[in-house]
Amino acid sequence: MITFTSLARATEIGANSYLLRFGAARVLVDGGMHPKREGAEALPDLGGLDFGSLDAAVLSHAHLDHSGALPVVQRQNPTMPVFMTEPTAALTGALLRNSVNVMEAKREELGRDDYPLFSHREVALSAKGWAARRAGRPFPLADAEEVDCTFHPSGHVLGAAGALFEHGGRSVFYTGDVHFEDQTLVRGASFPDGGVDVLVIECTRGDSDRDPDYTRWREGERLAAAIETCLSRGGTALIPVFAMGKTQETAMLLHELQKARRMRRLPLHVGGLGVKMTGIYDRFATRWPRHHRGLQMARTKGLLELPRKRGEFPEPAPGKVFLLSSGMMSEHTMSNRMGRRLLGDPRNLIATVGYADPASPLARVVDAAPGDRVELDPRHDPVARECEVVRFDFSGHAPREHLVDYVEQLRPEITVLVHGDPPAVERTRAEIAARVPETSVVVPAPGKEYEIG
Ligand SMILES: [Zn+2]
Repeated sequence: MITFTSLARATEIGANSYLLRFGAARVLVDGGMHPKREGAEALPDLGGLDFGSLDAAVLSHAHLDHSGALPVVQRQNPTMPVFMTEPTAALTGALLRNSVNVMEAKREELGRDDYPLFSHREVALSAKGWAARRAGRPFPLADAEEVDCTFHPSGHVLGAAGALFEHGGRSVFYTGDVHFEDQTLVRGASFPDGGVDVLVIECTRGDSDRDPDYTRWREGERLAAAIETCLSRGGTALIPVFAMGKTQETAMLLHELQKARRMRRLPLHVGGLGVKMTGIYDRFATRWPRHHRGLQMARTKGLLELPRKRGEFPEPAPGKVFLLSSGMMSEHTMSNRMGRRLLGDPRNLIATVGYADPASPLARVVDAAPGDRVELDPRHDPVARECEVVRFDFSGHAPREHLVDYVEQLRPEITVLVHGDPPAVERTRAEIAARVPETSVVVPAPGKEYEIG
């Protein structure tokens, strides 16, 4: 028997974690930390799991909403191997170490005695339990119950992979976060094209519509034009980006646009955690399906301007373009600090290229009309927004049409919808029901065990 249980605390994009049971074998799929909750509430609901009861875990990719609780899960399951791709292991290690620093800062600031939820030492200990596996090659997860797993690159970010589980002649495929289209660096997903009985699929963008004429390149041209206009009037441009993925993708896209003469040639200033993450992207430049194979971003002349000292804050000046994390301009980050410097001058540009949570400082910038005072950090006075603010769409997630196309191609017996807020899940469910009526769609209630085989 095979069963599926969502350990997320709600139907939402939060702390992604799922339990698959293959006979007596218990396999955890992802162990994320909720980006908006604090303390134990940010962890998946692990209450029903006894100490040491997991046989193995599989991590789809490094983003903290999939990996951020791993040290806690591994503390409770000290001998459990955690399987992931090699780039994911490198990126996850760096993100978890940064997460400890963030929690340590919150301990002071929010007066939270429970922080950090794990230490640097525990991250190092966790990493000892990680086992890297190549994509495309089946490997055994749990010997006694004969469960095999195969990773399939899922687009999205470096190292991201869906996981195909096979047990007793039945197959379950978990997509993780997926993008079917090529990005500038990372190639689109190469997923199984058949033979899947149960599909567990994300639906992040289930409720958003994309312009049918959208192309990544055309969106890039729009971004290049906005930067060019800003620089021509003597301004400074800031693109708040997630350190991992968005920094590297945006930098390479702008580099291509420069080569195509859509904007002037100039090096892009990257700072903070983005520098370390770029180093990891470079390290795997030939070991993952990607464009610009072998290209070392940090060593390519004229591509990036990196800080001379670790953690150094880059000085804003007219004519410069900054790609700084965090992606949502959270307090105490370089993009927040730079944003405060640039906000009040109409010559400057803040360009958004990713998701802005409605409660984030970035959303306050986007929502402000010219002249509105915006508080980016409660420790500093609000600044009147005079700079130009423009939004761009460079999502690393597949639009709904492509998700449903994939369901239609596979025609699985069961389709389980995860990683979506309720409107996204509902709209994806309705579209699958209309287009692929033979698959039975499951929207898993948190904590409920579903028999899927
Ligand atoms: Zn992700």
